[in-house]
Amino acid sequence: MLKVINLNASYKDLQVLWDVSFEVKQGELVVLLGANGAGKTTILNSISGIIPGTKGVIEFLGTDITKLASFKIAAQGIIHVPEGRRLFPEMSVKENLEMGSLLPEAKSKRKETMKKVFELFPILHEKQHQEAGDLSGGQQQMLAMGRGLMALPKLLILDEPSLGLSPVLVTQIFDIVKEINSQGVTVLLVEQNVAKTLSMCNRAYVLENGRVVMEGEGKELLNNDHIKEAYLGI
Ligand code: ATP
Repeated sequence: MLKVINLNASYKDLQVLWDVSFEVKQGELVVLLGANGAGKTTILNSISGIIPGTKGVIEFLGTDITKLASFKIAAQGIIHVPEGRRLFPEMSVKENLEMGSLLPEAKSKRKETMKKVFELFPILHEKQHQEAGDLSGGQQQMLAMGRGLMALPKLLILDEPSLGLSPVLVTQIFDIVKEINSQGVTVLLVEQNVAKTLSMCNRAYVLENGRVVMEGEGKELLNNDHIKEAYLGI
């Protein structure tokens, strides 16, 4: 579904991605793992067109999207829920969700999609008339994910949804990610929460200093000595 081939990216003279290649197949839940600064967010921003001018090829459903503007990439069905959530704090929960469904197809199905989002996140239903800025961190993350789903994504990209959340909420968020995936949405997830994500994903790619250094099935990587030592502290 998504193919990233030899992606290179730089900030001015500083090259931060080096020939990064990976793929996400239809229906999969794929994780990009790596420490702070490994280049994960840069990869996601390149895919969704937020950083233009990267070198390499990004294909989605057989089409080259490397040079497309970000709104055109979103219109193809790639929806990116960024780190930091970027909600509209003074708008209500419901209005934030509506902002996720501005394109014609999503707009025409707004009511039924919102019903599904409220089934996944009952707390958003309960708080639909409250301002987004008044929600807790975990609820804001749920709203950001819900807003992404309102766009009817073919590929949902989630950048560190567990960041800053308590262990109980992290488990809850990951359960919902799994549920979204089992409902047919392909997911590309960036995480630093290595143990939890490896146990739930289909496949993972490990990034170090802007390079893919390892790839494999989640459970296989969980038993890998390098992963155990470098990421799990075992
Ligand atoms: P984190 O988990 O901290 O977000 P990451 O793996 O997502 O880390 P990136 O944010 O992609 O990593 O950063 C990769 C490298 O690029 C880092 O060395 C970072 O300092 C650098 N970098 C990121 N954004 C910029 C920017 N706007 N200008 C200059 N350098 C940047």
